Amino acid sequence: MKPVIFCDFDGTITLNDNIIALMKQFAPPEWEAIKDDILAQTCSVQQGVGRMFSLLPTTLKEDIVQFLLDTARIRDGFSDFVAFTNERQIPLYIVSGGIDFFVYPLLHGLVEKERIFCNSADFSGETIRITWPYACDEHCQNGCGCCKPSLLRKLAPKGAKTIVIGDSITDLAAAKLADHVMARDFLLEKCRELHLPHTPFTTFFDVIDVLKESEVIA
Ligand SMILES: [Mg+2]
Ligand SMILES: [Zn+2]
Repeated sequence: MKPVIFCDFDGTITLNDNIIALMKQFAPPEWEAIKDDILAQTCSVQQGVGRMFSLLPTTLKEDIVQFLLDTARIRDGFSDFVAFTNERQIPLYIVSGGIDFFVYPLLHGLVEKERIFCNSADFSGETIRITWPYACDEHCQNGCGCCKPSLLRKLAPKGAKTIVIGDSITDLAAAKLADHVMARDFLLEKCRELHLPHTPFTTFFDVIDVLKESEVIA
């Protein structure tokens, strides 16, 4: 049976965090205190992200998308990695705490929408309201917003090996459930500390090399 790959978006596929970048550019200064609350875990990611986007008028939608299309950079090797998984028929899912209105355009031509699991947004009001199609299941109480461990439970067929690719605290719960983790930055430190089976990566060419050598796809 083929392994199933779950790949984070912000800071993993893109070099930087897109929510942070767009808040810096468009939000009033209050967003920073909310970000600090999330980092200090005095509010959940879901509460915090919801509050941050409620600071932004819905009229900014196109400007935000254009800004990210102009400034976000995709990590080297990503399109080769997608092609590699297609060739080997390895299921690849993008699991992201980002929002569909910018995640889809940034991945346009790289990954089909059906493989992307992220938050959604409602622009019918005065300010942006985030909706949460993939909120935590009954096994997770973290208020993830887009719950990666829940998605892993839902999407990985029984008995399939799972690989999680990511960079941050929001990938940790899924990484703990995975058979193997490809990690960078904070997630790499955590994998070392908790002795999770993992490999560090810098580009997606590294990820391809690990997959080629790995017995899970033999
Ligand atoms: Mg990330
Ligand atoms: Zn959760």
